[in-house]
Amino acid sequence: MFSAAVRLPSRSFYIRLCSSYVKQTRFLFELKENDDACRQALQSGSFYLFHKLSPLVRKSSSCYYSPAINHTDLLKILSNYGEDKLNLEDSVLVGCSNSCIAEFALDLGTLEQSNLEKEFSGKFTDLPKAVVKIDGKDGAVLSRAQALLRWHQTNQYCSNSGQLTQKNLSGSKRVCRSNGMIYYPQMTPVVITLVSSRNRCLLAHQESFPAGMYTALAGFCEIGETVEEAVRREVAEEVGLVVDALRYSGSQHWPFPNSSLMVACQATVKAEELVINRAEIEDARWFSLEEVIEALQVKMMPSNLPDGTLPIWVPPKFAIAHQLIQEWVQEQKALLKGS
Ligand SMILES: [Zn+2]
Repeated sequence: MFSAAVRLPSRSFYIRLCSSYVKQTRFLFELKENDDACRQALQSGSFYLFHKLSPLVRKSSSCYYSPAINHTDLLKILSNYGEDKLNLEDSVLVGCSNSCIAEFALDLGTLEQSNLEKEFSGKFTDLPKAVVKIDGKDGAVLSRAQALLRWHQTNQYCSNSGQLTQKNLSGSKRVCRSNGMIYYPQMTPVVITLVSSRNRCLLAHQESFPAGMYTALAGFCEIGETVEEAVRREVAEEVGLVVDALRYSGSQHWPFPNSSLMVACQATVKAEELVINRAEIEDARWFSLEEVIEALQVKMMPSNLPDGTLPIWVPPKFAIAHQLIQEWVQEQKALLKGS
């Protein structure tokens, strides 16, 4: 979207990236399909650790990060705990390094938390807090890892036969031995839409949000709906507006509170009069470009201003809502430049 402003890497860079990307993808595919290959990869893999779904976060001198512990170090520490309490084969595959070292996530929730934190020199931190602290690429890996671990914890039984299902080694599916049903980890599609009209955009606040936070409209896709239909319905339902035009902007996996696939769209409307559905949202307002730029500069969870009011703020950088809002701001700036 902002490619005009960014200097693109050379073609050879893409060829290298592409060939290594294909190599990694095929490697992961093999591990997902072949339990023996995955078992072997476990022996040389690295592990993101969780405790009751909270990831291990470590602090270095300059930042927080989530360490990927190598197999040897992991076994050395875990050997103190006795083998009956944990099984490396409970791990789930979450990716691989550039050099095809498999990366797994493992939940050590059956072991004592404070001892583990000492041994691994870190803290098991709530995922939302961890993601804010570490930001960047690690956040996406942890989100994916937690979502997959949670899915396995909450989908242990076959909904057809009621029997326990078995995880394949990588954790890419569960199979019921009694009737052959195969279950794949699922995400729920959610549409998130930034509505705009001329030089203003619409941001809303829900009762469940932190105080002062305004964001784009969001809602679950209903069964049988297309993304476009869901966007039109949500906008009509929540603020009583008819979408005139819409376009896809991007997507993001969102782990809170369950796994969602956020599909982000920009939508424009012609009529601007809001009829707010109070059962869904507490407040929705039109914001000017200046107001949005100001809100983007406010840090998360701000304190009151000297006059006692709370500044309005928007979701942080790692959220796709933030990217949608930034995209609109850049487009408005470009329009102003052009006019
Ligand atoms: Zn079954």
